[in-house]
Amino acid sequence: MSIYDFSIEDIQSRFDVEPYRSCQIYELMYRHLGNFSKATGIPKSLVAKLIDCEDFQNSLSIGKISKCDNDQTEKFLFELKDKKVVESVLMHYYNRSSVCISTQSGCKMNCSFCATGQMGFKRNLSKGEIVEQVIRLMQYCIDNGHRPITNIVFMGMGEPLDNYENSIEAAWAFKNELNIGAKHITVSTVGIVPAIKRLTEENLPFRLAVSLHGSDNETRSKIVPINKKYPLEMLIESLTEYLESNRSRRLSLEWTLIKDVNDTQDQAVKLAKIAKKLRAHVNLIYLNPTAKIGYNASQTDAAVNFKSILENLNINVTLRKTRGQSINAACGQLAYMN
Ligand code: SF4
Repeated sequence: MSIYDFSIEDIQSRFDVEPYRSCQIYELMYRHLGNFSKATGIPKSLVAKLIDCEDFQNSLSIGKISKCDNDQTEKFLFELKDKKVVESVLMHYYNRSSVCISTQSGCKMNCSFCATGQMGFKRNLSKGEIVEQVIRLMQYCIDNGHRPITNIVFMGMGEPLDNYENSIEAAWAFKNELNIGAKHITVSTVGIVPAIKRLTEENLPFRLAVSLHGSDNETRSKIVPINKKYPLEMLIESLTEYLESNRSRRLSLEWTLIKDVNDTQDQAVKLAKIAKKLRAHVNLIYLNPTAKIGYNASQTDAAVNFKSILENLNINVTLRKTRGQSINAACGQLAYMN
């Protein structure tokens, strides 16, 4: 259990305090990033009780930090209380810092290009364990003179919508308690259709990124096996409903470029059709190499050509620079390997 799994009501009953006091403690958890030794305005005896309570502590310990891209990308290996591990990646840009967080230790989705998928599923993270990754990295940014975290993406280990409640509660905590704008919080999914329908019903304000990677069922099912359960037609229908229920919503489609698998003209033309229907921005990223996976990244000319086809069909598209490749921190590389 993490300190960030405590609700205001939990604090009230656990420490036997008045409601106003539990609200104050809850606020301080976020304002002081879990460090109550700096807290003012609450009695010292209560501060001592908070610090002494075994459950009311950080639940992640930093196992290892790896850096690359001129120290602009940093990967954190966090060990959980039960010794399971997760990774988070902090990326510094000239005008912002972005953190990519995990929602599960391992993943059930088994995407064929992804190291996390290959390591299997260990367990869901609690809301507190998801929140705490950001809290710990906020403290790290302060301690190391980095720009504060401005963007949070749920694209680390795991499928966020397969751990729906905890992921969405964490996203609300980022918005409400850490004041990160909903437009700066992106939840990704590989396409769990019932969960997308739930997002639509709950009218959540966060951004949604869909990992597409294939624009027909045959190609997509090879890369993203969940497509066999929720094929493209179902996925597109659920996303259309999601967009129609709130016209201010924007969607991005993530596409890992894999040599001779999904970087062909045919795939680009079909992708353009889908992106047009969903008014979506397409993010292209080169496949990142991982030890056991028998795919190669697209060649530069194939990637540039793929992008041009989309542009010529009036699709907004970005060919992203790969970050963190040399420390296995890039998309699809997160797995406890080093
Ligand atoms: S790409 Fe995402 S959903 Fe697919 S196996 Fe990897 S972590 Fe899971």
